[in-house]
Amino acid sequence: GLELRNIRKSFGSTDVLKGLSLEIADGEFLSLVGESGCGKSTLLRIISGLEAPDSGEVLIAGEVVNTASPKDRNISMVFQDYALYPHMSVAQNIAMPLIMARLPLHARLPLVNLVSPRARSIKPVIASEVEAVARQLRIEHLLNRRPAELSGGQRQRVALGRALVRHPKLFLMDEPLSNLDAKLRVEVRKEITELHQSTGYTFVYVTHDQTEAMTMSHRVALLQKGELLQLATPSTLYADPNSVSVARFIGSPE
Ligand code: ATP
Ligand code: MG
Repeated sequence: GLELRNIRKSFGSTDVLKGLSLEIADGEFLSLVGESGCGKSTLLRIISGLEAPDSGEVLIAGEVVNTASPKDRNISMVFQDYALYPHMSVAQNIAMPLIMARLPLHARLPLVNLVSPRARSIKPVIASEVEAVARQLRIEHLLNRRPAELSGGQRQRVALGRALVRHPKLFLMDEPLSNLDAKLRVEVRKEITELHQSTGYTFVYVTHDQTEAMTMSHRVALLQKGELLQLATPSTLYADPNSVSVARFIGSPE
């Protein structure tokens, strides 16, 4: 599981996270919702290790990981803009985390082109893992294309594939569907739910979309100005909002 203890973070004079604590069980799907600027992305970046908290602790599987690098936390993060490598094929994009994990630093760059002797020996292993993930996401026919030759939904699946291939303990998603049109959003939403059910991984999912949060999650955490207003199951949030702010958020159409 994941535990956050009293996380604080400021940028200059702005207190972005004001002593935030929460626990997420293994295999849980937790959505993080709240107004723009309330600190959702900052919190994900702190969990993943891309950003350090000013104080407080991040625990993964019971261990404090505050100083661990993103790689050592075994966390995958999917961003809103997907952040794919434009000059690489879909297969290479998905393979990158495996390549980085398996090779010493000095050998990584040549391997990107899959030309070094070491690269040749691990290539079949990586290729089969990439294919398995691609099959799971139904993009196996796209492996040789570049990101520019894909639709938004396909790019989104490639980003999911790149996250999935590492078999992360924790899957962090920052508004992964916000660039998709309404129809595709419903489709990929279902796929993410299926992915969660089939893998049993722990998900922390940031979204603006209440329908997404309420339909996909075990529990929803509502953030306001860097503080946790309420963390509860969707049905509890509907039935027993603990403040007018929560009721307003749940009841509002957008
Ligand atoms: P959105 O829903 O719009 O994505 P958010 O909840 O993800 O918003 P954050 O991106 O976490 O919000 O930002 C929270 C606050 O911290 C904002 O006021 C933002 O301007 C500020 N902030 C975030 N990152 C930085 C940074 N690197 N330097 C300075 N301020 C930052
Ligand atoms: Mg954000």
